[in-house]
Amino acid sequence: MMPAQILDGAAMAEKIRQQIAQEVAQRLAEGKPAPGLATVLVGDNPASQVYVKSKHKACQQVGIRSMGYELPATASQQEVMDLVKRLNDDPAVNGILVQLPLPSGLDEEKVLGAISIEKDVDGFHPINIGRLAQKGREPLFVPCTPAGCMVLIESVLPDLNGANAVVLGRSNIVGMPVALLLVRANATVTICHSRTRNLKEVCRSADVLVAAVGRAEMVRGDWVKPGAVVIDVGINRVEDATQPRGYRLVGDVAFDEVKEVAGWLTPVPGGVGPMTIAMLLQNTLRAARLSDV
Ligand code: NAP
Repeated sequence: MMPAQILDGAAMAEKIRQQIAQEVAQRLAEGKPAPGLATVLVGDNPASQVYVKSKHKACQQVGIRSMGYELPATASQQEVMDLVKRLNDDPAVNGILVQLPLPSGLDEEKVLGAISIEKDVDGFHPINIGRLAQKGREPLFVPCTPAGCMVLIESVLPDLNGANAVVLGRSNIVGMPVALLLVRANATVTICHSRTRNLKEVCRSADVLVAAVGRAEMVRGDWVKPGAVVIDVGINRVEDATQPRGYRLVGDVAFDEVKEVAGWLTPVPGGVGPMTIAMLLQNTLRAARLSDV
């Protein structure tokens, strides 16, 4: 058995970013404004701060204007809603990204539902998700992490017709939308979660396995069908005294074991993470194009 080939999300994301940078430059040359992304960060969750910072940096690198809005963890529902409404009305803002999770006490569903669907670059508005779930309907935006997973999968398996796909996790932001995208690509999809029986056996039936559980290295070598495409969405901190920060990042897949069995495997970091950001840039550019007409 050959060891798995690595699906290099970082390299793929770099190519996509270069393409976006060219298209943004082209827009500017045509006298159109730079696409604008507004981020909304409520509270001081350190992981959220890191994610928002990296999104701003990525915007800057491709010529997208990014504007950061911060509210304290004590912000009221009304204050968050007012900010979203203000951004909906601001023509310089093409995309609005509310960083999740919101501090407890705030109604996430209401906040996401208040974002104008034309500016919903995270694709979490119920209308966009609803359209994703319905046959013959097209969402304006597809959520970034699931979209990035699909680009990675289809780069090595362009024809998913009839393929067995297993998605581990059913969250609103990853598991469920990735499952919907796989169905749209004509795969036969099984969605697993914390109540699933015989998880290992179900996973072993997968031609495509997407792990989005948030459990460090849960998917072991004997959970994977030889030759399968394995996408590791997980980002988990595990203690590691040899690291300067005292921890290292691992995925939901036991990389060293699975790479001996899978056909293709994404690394963590350097797999789904960079693709997520590339998809956000792509959605922001799309939002700017939508506002042109
Ligand atoms: P989440 O909201 O916590 O959902 C986890 C899902 O996994 C749930 O559906 C849960 O089942 C299921 N699950 C948990 N433990 C399980 C177990 N022992 N067996 C079977 N299923 C189990 O997580 P998420 O937001 O989807 O994120 C998942 C992972 O992806 C996290 O590590 C997160 O950090 C990472 N992530 C990465 C990116 C990226 O850009 N790379 C983006 C987003 C998230 P129930 O529904 O039954 O509770």
